[in-house]
Amino acid sequence: MTNIHPRVRIAPSPTGDPHVGTAYIALFNYVFSKKHSGEFILRIEDTDQQRSRAGSEQAILDALHWLGIDWDEGPDKGGPFAPYRQSERQEIYNKHAEILIQSDHAYRCFCTSDRLAALRLSQRQENVPSGYDRFCRSLSKEESEKRYLANEAHTIRLAMPRDGMTTLNDHLRGKVEFENRQIDDQILLKSDGMPTYHLANVVDDHLMKITHVIRAEEWISSTPKHIALYDAFGWEHPVWIHMPLLRNNDHSKISKRKNPVSINYYRDAGILPHALRNFLGIMGWSFGNDREVFSLEEMIEAFSWERISLGGPVFGLDKLHWMNEQYLKQMSDQAIVDALMAWRLNNDQLLRIIPLIRDRIKRFDDFFSATDFFFCGDINYSSIAAQLSIPDLTPSKLAKKLSELVETYEALPVFTTEILEKTSRDFATNNDWKTKHLFMTLRHILTGRKASPPLFETMEVLGKELVFRRIRKAIEFLRTIKQ
Ligand code: GLU
Repeated sequence: MTNIHPRVRIAPSPTGDPHVGTAYIALFNYVFSKKHSGEFILRIEDTDQQRSRAGSEQAILDALHWLGIDWDEGPDKGGPFAPYRQSERQEIYNKHAEILIQSDHAYRCFCTSDRLAALRLSQRQENVPSGYDRFCRSLSKEESEKRYLANEAHTIRLAMPRDGMTTLNDHLRGKVEFENRQIDDQILLKSDGMPTYHLANVVDDHLMKITHVIRAEEWISSTPKHIALYDAFGWEHPVWIHMPLLRNNDHSKISKRKNPVSINYYRDAGILPHALRNFLGIMGWSFGNDREVFSLEEMIEAFSWERISLGGPVFGLDKLHWMNEQYLKQMSDQAIVDALMAWRLNNDQLLRIIPLIRDRIKRFDDFFSATDFFFCGDINYSSIAAQLSIPDLTPSKLAKKLSELVETYEALPVFTTEILEKTSRDFATNNDWKTKHLFMTLRHILTGRKASPPLFETMEVLGKELVFRRIRKAIEFLRTIKQ
């Protein structure tokens, strides 16, 4: 690779908890940029207002910092191409969409959502691939202009070349070819004036002088649209590098149903940040000489794209635990004490726990048995199987219901006692269960015991990551019970 003063970026969408996939891609961007004394940019892609969640942006920044990854330009730091938050760049996208209309690389689409829904339905019924039928592409310029001036609601769509092929030259994968006619005339600007990911992403990558787009393999199918946009604007393409996706143990794409995916889970479960960072560094990349434990500086020093292998790397917890153990072994006693304190044995955390258990202890030596579930990892459910039940429900039905419950919790805007209690009561009522049955089952799932401090306060202090993990583990366990 000769173009060596890289400007690279990650462009997370703040739609939920900070994902390990974001950290993985951030790590490789960071390492590559530092290897060649380039810049690493963090850009927030928050144009999907419906999916964006308050607090998520800050959580992403905090999680990356916890891992020891820092950036040169970003929404919190500013930089020569500010703003770095797409919701603040709307005018730029509008202007660029207009340029594409003028050059006939895009067109206004006045199709109503009803028409598009009917189109989708008929495509489904006829078993043909879904996609826009390019109806408005054949409107005359005059008609389009007239309807636009009459303020008719519309989107702006990319006029994809109708024939020929688009070739993606991926630095890791070589040539990947796409038939243009198979590719949808993508919406670039929505009717509310907000850009879609495709337009905003390409315009910003160009304006921010991004030289290498290093992102996950799942974006490959979007790349022909991006290439069409670069070509329509007459801009030079970046180097494309699509990293292999992280996978579950069974090789399916990593998903929260099978593996915790929030970086905060690993933090709360007591994984050392260096260990997680190192573990992400062996996902698809090899240091050489079978060496697996290395520092960030050593990774930067040794980095090259030649050592990436495209077979899907498995994000396996056993391996991560092994990695963590290697780091623990290297630490001094004092460093372990410091890390334990940073983790949970600290003033803030103890001050949240003490009010919940102060009436339950007579002597300090009761403290550990009264609070062990705040500090332990997964709970063993086989010895309390009978307690995980709701009258008249088979274990597999209970498992199904509990998955609905976790999803309901996940959608909560905050994870506080009041909202957890209300949500759980409503859930029991809606299922015609006695609240005491649900609460007792939850108590067992979360604490492994019959008597614990108040349930919802306990959930708040445990934190959502451990709560979700334990409920998911209980679901997994319930599915193994003979019905
Ligand atoms: N906003 C996209 C994401 O959430 C960015 C993908 C890309 O890097 O182009 O991952």
